[in-house]
Amino acid sequence: MYIIMLGAPGSGKGTLAKELSKEYNLVHISTGDIFRENIKKQTELGKEADKYISNGLLVPDEITIGLVKSRLSEDDVKSGAILDGFPRTAKQAEELDMFIRKNNPINTVAVLLDIPDEDLIKRVVKRVTCSNKECGAIYNTEFRPSKVPGICDICGSKLVKRDDDNEETVRGRLKIYHDNSKEIIKYYEDKNILFTVKPNIYSPTVLEENISKVKGYLETHK
Ligand SMILES: [Zn+2]
Repeated sequence: MYIIMLGAPGSGKGTLAKELSKEYNLVHISTGDIFRENIKKQTELGKEADKYISNGLLVPDEITIGLVKSRLSEDDVKSGAILDGFPRTAKQAEELDMFIRKNNPINTVAVLLDIPDEDLIKRVVKRVTCSNKECGAIYNTEFRPSKVPGICDICGSKLVKRDDDNEETVRGRLKIYHDNSKEIIKYYEDKNILFTVKPNIYSPTVLEENISKVKGYLETHK
């Protein structure tokens, strides 16, 4: 089974992907990791990708598709994988479909975490992080405050706000996400393999709830 994770930055899709990967014993593949790995190993495609990334540009479709296909050809993902950050365009989705059909025709489902923008903005804007880099604990002054305001529960260091955790930056990121994700959401919707979860991010058990909803869906779509 291939599970494709979709959702805005800050929606918690990476965390959910990790949990689903444990639950179903599927490798969690994030495009970010693939890029880093290939750049480190200085593969041909890795060197190409690096030119774009180091200039702050989006890696073109052909390079991304090539890297993902080569990763998906490895033995540990023969029974499927969880894809996080790919596909990002309808073209990438089509290529992925063709690749799966040709090599390993097993089920694909797309899981979309659909959270209102205003909730995501609140979550990020009120986020504070432990200034001790080795700790790195994350709090939210509204939803998950530290016991003593401004002080990390775990290591006692000062909590700081990241520069890019401001409303303007978040709105910008969300706009890019919505512009890019429209066609891909429609693509999986049309294929009837899109499962949408609308999590209540204020719930303390939101992760467990998401996992059980996705499990329920997958049970009926094996
Ligand atoms: Zn800390």
